[in-house]
Amino acid sequence: MSGPAQHGIFRGDDSATRVFLPDEAATLALGGALGAALIQGQAEIVVYVEGDLGAGKTTLVRGVLRSLGYSGKVKSPTYTLVELYVVSGLNLYHFDFYRFEQPEEYLDAGLDEYFQGMGVCLVEWPDKAGAYLPPADLRVQLSTAHDGRDVVLLAQSEKGRLCLTSLKFRLADTPAATSSSLPPQR
Ligand code: ADP
Ligand code: MG
Repeated sequence: MSGPAQHGIFRGDDSATRVFLPDEAATLALGGALGAALIQGQAEIVVYVEGDLGAGKTTLVRGVLRSLGYSGKVKSPTYTLVELYVVSGLNLYHFDFYRFEQPEEYLDAGLDEYFQGMGVCLVEWPDKAGAYLPPADLRVQLSTAHDGRDVVLLAQSEKGRLCLTSLKFRLADTPAATSSSLPPQR
């Protein structure tokens, strides 16, 4: 229960939260809470979804899209770089920069246009675009922990803080995610 405090990140803090996701359903539920926060909040926001291969980034984005009412397939746009979903009155852009060998490819692909206040931008592998990518309002950092995933949510702007506050409120109402707590430290 005191996990977040042990890691120096407090649940009560309005700019940082740590959650343990025991299984895929919990990752989808966190995505669902984020989706609900996105509907309620600003339609224009940049969210970095960070973590190694297999960390659960695409699963989280799938949870967001499900909660917005999208029932089709959600795959990482590893080759196409960006996928647009128009759902629940939002333009949601899902980016994946995994294949970039150099950050300049971001500019070459003309992707900066997408970040000029057109919608919700969820970005996998943001570090691959280096300094060219606009800063995140919210960062979701996933990592493997025990048999589940550890996630740190960091708000980096006022918009991000509003979104995180709304997300935490919704997470409290989500059974799959409320059962989440950090496992005992070994
Ligand atoms: P990424 O996009 O980061 O490469 P994926 O979203 O494709 O990762 O997920 C990789 C695998 O991790 C999937 O099989 C998914 O079901 C699983 N997974 C997602 N969240 C969790 C979790 N909280 N606990 C255990 N496995 C998870
Ligand atoms: Mg992925």
